[in-house]
Amino acid sequence: MMQQYLETKKQYPDCILFYRLGDFYEMFFEDALTASKELEITLTGKNCGLKERAPMCGVPYHAVEGYLTKLVNKGYKVAICEQMEDPKLAKGLVKRDVVRIVTPGTNLNMQALEESKNNYLMCVTYTPTKIGISVADVTTGDYYLTEVEDLRKLQDEMMKYQPSEIICNDAFLVSGMDIDDLKGRYHISVNVLEAHLFDDESCKKALLKHFKVNTLMGLGVEEFPVGVIAAGALLQYLYETQKTTLEHFTHIYPYLTNKFMLLDSSTRRNLELTETLREKQKRGSLLWILDKTKTAMGGRKLRSMLEQPLIDKEEMEMRLDAIEELNKDSVSRDELREYLSPIYDLERLLSKVIYKTANPRDLIAFRNSLEMLPHIKTVLKGFEKEALRGIYNDLEGLEDIYQLILNAIEEEPPITIREGGILKDGFDETIDMLRSAKHDGKKWLALLEEEDRERTGIKNLKIKYNKVFGYYFEVTNSYKELVPSDYVRKQTLANAERYTTPRLKELEDTILNAEDKLQTLEYDLFCKIRDSIAMEIDRIQKTAKAVALLDVFTSLSLVAERNRYVRPKLNEKGVIDIKDGRHPVVEQMITHDMFIANDTYLDNGSHCISIITGPNMAGKSTYMRQTALIVLMAQIGCFVPAKSANIGIVDRIFTRVGASDDLASGQSTFMVEMNEVANILRNATSHSLLILDEIGRGTSTFDGLSIAWAVIEHISNRKLLGAKTLFATHYHELTELEGKMSNVNNYCIAVKERGDEIVFLRKIVKGGADKSYGIQVAKLAGVPDMVIDRAKEIVEQLSDNDITAKVQNIAVDTRADAKAKKQPKYDEVDLAQMSLFDTVTDEDVLKELMDIEVTTLTPLDALNTLYRLQNKLKNRWGGREQK
Ligand code: ATP
Repeated sequence: MMQQYLETKKQYPDCILFYRLGDFYEMFFEDALTASKELEITLTGKNCGLKERAPMCGVPYHAVEGYLTKLVNKGYKVAICEQMEDPKLAKGLVKRDVVRIVTPGTNLNMQALEESKNNYLMCVTYTPTKIGISVADVTTGDYYLTEVEDLRKLQDEMMKYQPSEIICNDAFLVSGMDIDDLKGRYHISVNVLEAHLFDDESCKKALLKHFKVNTLMGLGVEEFPVGVIAAGALLQYLYETQKTTLEHFTHIYPYLTNKFMLLDSSTRRNLELTETLREKQKRGSLLWILDKTKTAMGGRKLRSMLEQPLIDKEEMEMRLDAIEELNKDSVSRDELREYLSPIYDLERLLSKVIYKTANPRDLIAFRNSLEMLPHIKTVLKGFEKEALRGIYNDLEGLEDIYQLILNAIEEEPPITIREGGILKDGFDETIDMLRSAKHDGKKWLALLEEEDRERTGIKNLKIKYNKVFGYYFEVTNSYKELVPSDYVRKQTLANAERYTTPRLKELEDTILNAEDKLQTLEYDLFCKIRDSIAMEIDRIQKTAKAVALLDVFTSLSLVAERNRYVRPKLNEKGVIDIKDGRHPVVEQMITHDMFIANDTYLDNGSHCISIITGPNMAGKSTYMRQTALIVLMAQIGCFVPAKSANIGIVDRIFTRVGASDDLASGQSTFMVEMNEVANILRNATSHSLLILDEIGRGTSTFDGLSIAWAVIEHISNRKLLGAKTLFATHYHELTELEGKMSNVNNYCIAVKERGDEIVFLRKIVKGGADKSYGIQVAKLAGVPDMVIDRAKEIVEQLSDNDITAKVQNIAVDTRADAKAKKQPKYDEVDLAQMSLFDTVTDEDVLKELMDIEVTTLTPLDALNTLYRLQNKLKNRWGGREQK
């Protein structure tokens, strides 16, 4: 057996081998050491013909899924080696073979997977000119392919799908992508596959063979030569690991990334589409607001719609039409939602059917789901809009499959498929016959027990059964004397003896034979039923997709009604005109109806850039994000939180929001910020929407202000970019740009001053703010009074120094050509000469020194004071001395 083990293990050196031995999966040697540690199970040993015992550990077969998932989630690959014949019937060593390899991207343990999220496996084929991407979910049969030009776009796709495993060619490892970051920060397991799997010809062949077509044209993928390699390699990998026919992969969907709104990874994060920025939770995200779906399939579909907003107006209108029609007939919509509610995850149930792991209870769940379909069809019949008609046409009643399961499978069947009790009486004649033999046999046993009790006078004589000894008479020691001579002893216990007789043996044979036959026959018939369902895969998959979409539309309709959303108008003129817009998440998080709605108007003409100023906490970020979210929601084809909205379709949304360190990838706050700015300026187009919150905050005031200024100049220049932009800043000096540039406008969020306090009005108004009220906000936050008072003193001193006056003199740079851009800018003002501390005099420093109470000063205070005073003098003298 150990030889057999070692031979099998040799074929799967990169996997932990789960080797089936009776009711356990055992692991040996290195695998046992690893698994016992990772799974926290006892390590034992086994004599294996070597000098030392082999380390060994095991997990029971019936609980294997949990252990598998634990290992796979930690990034291990597990090969499952099963017994291929019945040990009872095997001659010599039982034949064993690896039946499946489980990896993070191919885990079929449905309980361990988030039900409203796909578990994607991604294959990347890296070439210097193109990157092929293919993505698949083995639990649903979804299978996509595309190509991108560079690593940034690849990263965008990765963020979109969030795969749990990436398989790739060698070249990807040296492409410049930070593989450790993928593994460490994003918990993606990355595996390099053997080069032959990326061979152009074998990839094509694999696809043609799987889809049973003669040319790639038939699959619509011929325009993606590198994508085809990724898809082919992925398919071959699945065949190697899954060792099944993958029948549920019925389609491959090629797509162009620019057919959807492009969202880069930081924008997805910043807009908190599916999870919050900090806690990484669904609660607080846009998905949390929109997801009122009733089925797991609907949940996944909505998530994927959110991850890829559309750019095609017609498609958006189609979705909006569907939601509007459902809104108009909310009674039918709610009825539909009731019918959707009991529907199980048909897609994942179907993969279980294909993988032959579906048990009788799964089929009952399947049947209960199918029962809803005809009702849904009846209600849907009344709807007319194209998207809903499409669902009606795709959604089949599947009555035949429903009827088959209804007739065949018991209402409350066991989970196991080998112990009978699965099929209904009347479904199959032979089964009925065997059942009555088994049943009658039990009656005969009862009769024999009664007869022998009388014949022998043993009052407590009982016929019992166990798996090892079969049926036997049990006689307690007190009646030992009465045992007749025809009783043959089988076993002796402490207080009883067990016997058999020729008659009992005869009955046992009849009963056990019937039982054995029954179990085998029930198992065979169940498998046949399961296989016949698998044959209907196309119809079921199509129906499941229709159910998912219907679930999404009814959910979006309900949310629109509950949250008072309106249907957005869509235009291709680039005008974004939102009246009384609201932030979909913030409005739900704060006390009812306390949210203050605001307007937004942007276009590619005179309202291209809005510079938004206002105190801290006023609501600048909320306002900007709400605009981005309303645009995004409209492009998903969803109603929006506003009184009215006319949305000019955008090709991309970019956000640069707040400061966040990316220490894990070795980047400082400011570096992250500038990377994002660089990405935006390089990739945005005049059709994009830019949300820029606080650019240039992570560095010195003058550097930051200058960068922010130059960025606005660049964006506003139509020859260079001309993208619609909301730009929030605390650099009030930037409001000077209005008037200097024809397409820049100032807005601020109003506040009211009441003595020393401020009241946030949350209303956006025309004009620029000249104060940030940072100190008041710090006070609100509970910063100690001493610090607040000191801050006020400093502000007084600094406010004498008005850099705005200097900024007013900066000329606007309108030079678009590269030559001109090489010239130094801002030559009108020597920024280096501006010092915020110009007003500090030597006397001030001396006075502060005089005022110090040296006796009460702690050593730390003393050090800080010395540092501060020295800095003041350095600021005052240092620059001049250098000059
Ligand atoms: P900072 O400049 O400090 O980043 P900010 O101006 O960007 O502040 P936000 O973070 O947008 O301010 O808003 C602060 C809080 O104010 C939000 O968390 C929200 O609770 C509340 N708020 C924002 N806008 C509104 C609004 N329109 N109506 C009601 N409450 C709002």
